[in-house]
Parts: sequence; C-alpha cells; structure tokens
Amino acid sequence: MNLIRFALPIIFSIVFFACGINEKLSNANIIHDSGLISQVMVENNQLFVKATEDIHLRFEYYCRIDNKDKHLGWSVKGLDDVFNISIPCKYEDSQYYIKVRAENSNAFQDTVFYFYASPSNFSFLEMHFIDVEQGDATYIKTPENYSIIIDGGYGTRGSSKLDWQGFGQPLALNYINSLGIDHFNYIIETHHHADHYGGLSDIKNSNTYTWDYELSNNNTYNYVVGQNLELDSDVQFKILNIGYPPGQSNSGINNTSIVLKVNYGYADFLLTGDAEGVVQNYMMQNSMELKADLFKISHHGSSSNGTCNTEFLNTVFNKDTKIGIISFGTNNPYGHPKALYRFSDYYVFGTGTPPDQSPYQNHYFNCGNIITYCDGQAIIISIDNN
Ligand SMILES: [Zn+2]
Repeated sequence: MNLIRFALPIIFSIVFFACGINEKLSNANIIHDSGLISQVMVENNQLFVKATEDIHLRFEYYCRIDNKDKHLGWSVKGLDDVFNISIPCKYEDSQYYIKVRAENSNAFQDTVFYFYASPSNFSFLEMHFIDVEQGDATYIKTPENYSIIIDGGYGTRGSSKLDWQGFGQPLALNYINSLGIDHFNYIIETHHHADHYGGLSDIKNSNTYTWDYELSNNNTYNYVVGQNLELDSDVQFKILNIGYPPGQSNSGINNTSIVLKVNYGYADFLLTGDAEGVVQNYMMQNSMELKADLFKISHHGSSSNGTCNTEFLNTVFNKDTKIGIISFGTNNPYGHPKALYRFSDYYVFGTGTPPDQSPYQNHYFNCGNIITYCDGQAIIISIDNN
C-alpha cells in the first residue's frame, strides 16, 4: 500500500469563523487522467469520480495564497461516485485545488482539479480541539447551529506554578469567547478530573453563558448507552459509554468517561475522554460501532491500563481516513503521549509537543488549536499553529 506523504506547512493561516462558508467548484480543469480513474467530471458543484475498480479514493485539499500552497486537509470517501466539495475558507477569489488520489495495493495515481472560490452559505459540522495545554476541551458546532462543549481543560484550576497547565488561565473560556458563543445546548463533562472539568467551571461560573443541559456522570438525564443526544436531524451523537461499565466500578474515574460516537453522512468521529482499556474492551465486547475516520485518542495518548491496545486501534481505524487527535500539554509531567509507536500507521495531530519527537512523517505536533470541518463527506483539518 502506498502511503501518502506530503509536507504540511508550519504556518497555517486559514482561520476559523463562526459560520461555515461554502466554496463552490468552478472552472475545474483536469490536469491529467489516471489509469485507475475512468472518469472525472465537475458539474453543478459536484465532483463525479468513477474508478476502474472498487478502490480507495482520497481527496486532498489545497489553497494557493501568495504563491504558496497550503494544505487544507484530507477527505473521507463514501461509496458513491458523486461528491459534493465544500471547503471552509474565507478567501474570495483564491485559487484552490483538490488532488484526487486513487490507489490500490499496487499503485496510486493523482488527478488534480484547480478552481476558484466563490463563498456562499454553507454549514459544517465543526469540531474545535482547543489547545488547553494539559487537558481536553472540544467545542462542537453542528450544521444546524447547535453548540456543544465537551470538557474544558484545567482552566483556572491549573496551578500557577505549573506552566504545562496553562498558568491557571481560562484557555477554553477565552477560546469560546473568541468565537462569540454565548449559549450551549450541551455542556458535557466526560469525567470528573480537573484537566477536564476545570475549564468547564470557568465557563459555568462566568455568568456569560447559558445552556440547556449539563451532561455528566452526576447528571445523566437518564441517558443510557445506545441513546442519542437530540440535536441535528442529520448528525447523530450516540452514547457508547456513560459511567462505569457493568462490574467495573473499581477501575478508576477515567473509566466513567462519557464516550460519544458522532456520525454525519459518511464521516464518523469517536470521542472517548480518558476511557482506558476497561471501557474500550467493554465497547468491543458489546459489538459497538467503533470504526471512525477521526478518533480523539483516549487519555492524552496514554497507553497505560490497557488503553488503545492493538485490537482496539484496528477496530477504530477501520476506515479509509485514519486521523487521530491527541490533546496534551508540552512538557506535561505524565509524559503524554507516551506510546506514539502505536499510532505509527495513522495521521496524528497533537496540540502540544511530545517529549521525544515523533519519528513518523504522518504525525504533526505543536498544532495548537485543531479545527475540523465536515460536510458529511470530507473532513478538512485546519491547524491554528503560529
Ligand atoms: Zn485527562
């Protein structure tokens, strides 16, 4: 299998914005055809791709600004031949291109489309993996404009003596403020550890925000495994774990983590908090649908207590797009993320810088805030690094 290698720019200037903007395809030009792709065509903002066999297609998105190519992200591919292409970019009349790669076990071939953007209204499923140094904080905005925050890092609970905790700053609160959000449909605390609930306390205590539900292990609204949070009609938020799995009440608070499987169109996301081997095995043993295009890697990339064993990773990373996100603080005293070799086959993005540099070309660290945009087919990753 040919692995795709590319250079990700260190400085990534694409910024996020409150409302998604659609960039319509126009003036598409086929640079060259491939032997693996039998037909490519653009019509009415849709990309038609037919392959000569049932093979893996992957899209990569680029923007050209000031004569520099900026990589915008990867795709998720469905089984259809037709793809709507939407790119969250704010630049008027900027040139973009999409590289369509077809590959089987022997070969790959690229076809490139160039086009110019013309923004129009479009909404994405956005996930913002906020850089809260050591901890977790994820903000989600759905296409129908529902807001969810999952965890908030240490926030002001962090010790001012420990810079890996963000000097006790309300980093999640500041980030949410920068988005102009003032209402959440759900505030979700995956589990009661300070690197997750601390920043949520900042938000709840600020008198700036309102919210409909505060979901935690203390306040479950009778949600049980298998239920969905009622939000968008097209996006599913399914609970795969809430509280200790049966018979595991002595396994440690990490294993009370609320686990969510998010589905939107062809794209699947798995958000696991700090769930360890106990929860991961429970989900596998109960045949839960775990495969995901994007896995928010458990427990800041730790491998202790059976977390992220090979069987689990093979189960999760069982789709064409294999993206892992690790939230952790540079120089954290736990040594997170400890076991990068376990993720060597996957595209990994980390908020911080690991103690030892990753030897893997498909790993990107010190990303800062990591924002993903999904239109139900593609997942586009934007890195807020500077
Ligand atoms: Zn944690």
